[in-house]
Amino acid sequence: METPGHLIVDIARLDPEGESFAGETTPGLLELGEGSPCIPEGGVAYRIHVERIGSELLARGQVSQRFACKCSRCAEPLSLEVVEPSFFANYPAEEGAEFVDLTPELREAIILALPGYPVCREDCKGLCARCGANRNRETCTCSPAPGGSWAALDLLAKR
Ligand SMILES: [Zn+2]
Ligand SMILES: [Zn+2]
Repeated sequence: METPGHLIVDIARLDPEGESFAGETTPGLLELGEGSPCIPEGGVAYRIHVERIGSELLARGQVSQRFACKCSRCAEPLSLEVVEPSFFANYPAEEGAEFVDLTPELREAIILALPGYPVCREDCKGLCARCGANRNRETCTCSPAPGGSWAALDLLAKR
């Protein structure tokens, strides 16, 4: 059984001491929802140790993947490496079990570790809500409104 780009373990031939697997899944296996600020670059990289213990197959290790994202505050592009250092999955491995495809779990671990609101840097100031200026690069004249935004709304109401 050969499925390129998948991590498939041949249970019957697995070394009794366990075996290590390292590689990368095929790009495009990761399906992110519409509107995600991130696009995968390449596949999921993995370094996994797989061991059969009794009637269970245990897999643990590290998975990572690079993404091209947009900052959720200022919309600038950013490159992000998502790392899950403590990947863990287990599978039933009864007598006669043959192959197990670990790819869906590798993928899922990355999706869980992917931040929903990536930022280009922790202190990103974002865009001005009024004029759209990138406040990391420029100081626009419309901010800060004296007394905060409520005062600005008051002024508008009195006009
Ligand atoms: Zn930003
Ligand atoms: Zn502004």
